[in-house]
Amino acid sequence: MKKRAMSPLNNSTLLLGAHMSIAGGVATAVERGQRIGCTTMQMFVKNNNQWKGKPLTDEDVSTYKKLLRESRIHPVVVHDTYLINLCAVDKEILKKSREALKDEFDRCEALGVQYLNFHPGAHMGAGEAEGIKRIAESLNVIHQRTPGYGVRSVIEATAGQGTAIGYRFEHLRKIIDLVEERERMAVCLDTCHVFAAGYDLSTERGYEETFREFDTIVGLDRLVAFHVNDSKRELGSRVDRHEHIGKGKIGIQGFSFLMNDPRFSNIPKILETPKGPEMKEDVENMRVLRGLIRKK
Ligand code: MN
Ligand code: MN
Ligand code: ZN
Repeated sequence: MKKRAMSPLNNSTLLLGAHMSIAGGVATAVERGQRIGCTTMQMFVKNNNQWKGKPLTDEDVSTYKKLLRESRIHPVVVHDTYLINLCAVDKEILKKSREALKDEFDRCEALGVQYLNFHPGAHMGAGEAEGIKRIAESLNVIHQRTPGYGVRSVIEATAGQGTAIGYRFEHLRKIIDLVEERERMAVCLDTCHVFAAGYDLSTERGYEETFREFDTIVGLDRLVAFHVNDSKRELGSRVDRHEHIGKGKIGIQGFSFLMNDPRFSNIPKILETPKGPEMKEDVENMRVLRGLIRKK
C-alpha cells in the first residue's frame, strides 16, 4: 500500500454530511447523500409529522442496504419524529410517544442503523426534575422492549426552547444515570442548540470551556455525532433557529475550532440547515466546512 501524506485530518476520512429527505423511500436518502458527496448522513425512518408510518417492506430494506454498501456513506444517523415527547404529561401522548420511538428502534434495527437520535422531551410545566425522571423511565420501557438491539440511543442536546429539557449537560447526565442499560446511551451535540443554550462556541476560550465541561459532566466517550448548524439567534437566547455555516452568531471561527479539533476528527458532522430540493445549500455549507480544515 502506498504511504499517505502526513495529514491526520485528511479530507478523505472526514465524516461530513447532511439530513437527507426520504421522499420516495429510505433508499432515496442514500442516493441523495451520495449525489452531493456526503460521507455520513441523517434521515427520518418515517414521515416526521405522523404518529404511524407505512411499514418498511423487505424491498425497502434490501434496496437501502445495497445502496448504502455501495456508497461512501458511513455511518447513518436516524432522527426521530417531531411528535414524540418522552416526558409528555398527557398519558395518551406519553404512551403514543413510547410506541412511536419503539417503532423507530425497530426500523433502525431492520435497516442496520447505528444511531437513533432523539430529543429528550418537553416537561410541559411538570418541572425539569420530573421531566428527566419520566424521560429515563420512557427509555427504560423502550430498551426493555428492544432487547439486544445494536442501535445506540442518542440524546440530542437542545436549545432549551419552551419547556424543552436537555439545554444543560447536567440534564443529559441525569437522564443517562437513570437509564438501566447505560451502555446503550450516547449523545449528539447540535452546535446551534448548545450555543443558544448558553455555551459559547464562538470564541476559543468558550469553545475549550464548553468541551471541558461536557467531558467532566457527560464524558467525551458518549459523544457520537454533531449536528453542525450556525445559530440565527444569540448566545443564551434559548431559541432554536438554524443558520448556514458562518452566517449566524456562532460564526466561521467557531466552526474552524470544531473542524480542526483532533478529538472529533472521527465523529460524524451533519448539517440541518435550510435548503431547497436541489440541496445546493448543503453543497455550499459542506464546502465551507471542508475549507476550514488546516492542512498539516
Ligand atoms: Mn434535532
Ligand atoms: Mn439537531
Ligand atoms: Zn434545532
